[in-house]
Amino acid sequence: MQRIVVLAGGVGGARFLRGLSSAVPEAEITVIGNTGDDIHLFGLKVCPDLDTVMYTLGGGIHEEQGWGRKDESFTVKEELAEYGVEPQWFGLGDRDFATHIVRTQMIGAGYPLSAVTEALCARWQPGVRLLPMTDDRVETHVLIDAPEEEGGRKAVHFQEYWVRMRASVDARAVVPVGAESAKPGPGVLEAIAAADVVLFPPSNPVVSVGTILAVPGVREAIADADVPVVGLSPIVGDAPVHGMADKVLAAVGVEATASAVAEHYGSGLLDGWLVDTVDAGRVGAVEEAGIRCRAVPLMMTGTEATAAMAREALALAEEVRA
Ligand code: GDP
Ligand code: CA
Repeated sequence: MQRIVVLAGGVGGARFLRGLSSAVPEAEITVIGNTGDDIHLFGLKVCPDLDTVMYTLGGGIHEEQGWGRKDESFTVKEELAEYGVEPQWFGLGDRDFATHIVRTQMIGAGYPLSAVTEALCARWQPGVRLLPMTDDRVETHVLIDAPEEEGGRKAVHFQEYWVRMRASVDARAVVPVGAESAKPGPGVLEAIAAADVVLFPPSNPVVSVGTILAVPGVREAIADADVPVVGLSPIVGDAPVHGMADKVLAAVGVEATASAVAEHYGSGLLDGWLVDTVDAGRVGAVEEAGIRCRAVPLMMTGTEATAAMAREALALAEEVRA
């Protein structure tokens, strides 16, 4: 049986995983999920990326939106707003609240996040093994200009930058607070060591895949393992397909192009890279950087198109293995 490890963020990672599962239903897929986006709200622990993967693969996702539950209502959010409770910029629906209540209750009872995630997945049956990158607390913060502050800068939680501010100001730096002392979650290094192929889906290279790689030991385990590593570009036609990934790429000094992202990961990590057909002109630059590259359609317009992307990634993995 083929063992595939995928480093996933939220929407981009989850949609890719659905295509991958459909392309190779018999494969054993382990997802290492980003927890740097996690946030405490109203006393509850919210894990947006883990939940997006779980809901998407478990059939509970709001399809058009890409995150949150389908058939959702917002009574609790409205009632909290009536009390004037902040923050009001993060949309938690009633069904979603239940997930966060169960998670917070279990964590309060002493269970690590990995065990909690497994328990939540017992309901959703995502068909993959979903492992948090770490059980330790890691929180991505974004440094922005703040003329009123001493030093002229301040750090805000990633969700505040992304959701409240819609990344409308420049990010000066992205810091995964706590990552340097975090340990990989149970099963993470073992899954990498046992993998036949490692995939980077078209997730955000900085705040999704980059945060997972920032957990000490993960990058090294992938780079040192004798396993093909293939990624798919989230940048198509010199812009993110959705969202504002260009803002956080700029913070780490990387252009928003399919080839610059591949070079950012580097040939020490990546063996193969897929760019969209509109970026075929960038294949040469990626290959010059020592990474095998192909141009194929990379728009996840539906499960069949996404499954085709997954097959291309697996085919490229076989090519670099040979
Ligand atoms: P988030 O945590 O919800 O932001 O999701 P991820 O980090 O997993 O993925 C976000 C990235 O997915 C963005 O940078 C998008 O450009 C990328 N993305 C979304 N849809 C598509 C698509 O159809 N094709 C490609 N190539 N990238 C996509
Ligand atoms: Ca995310």
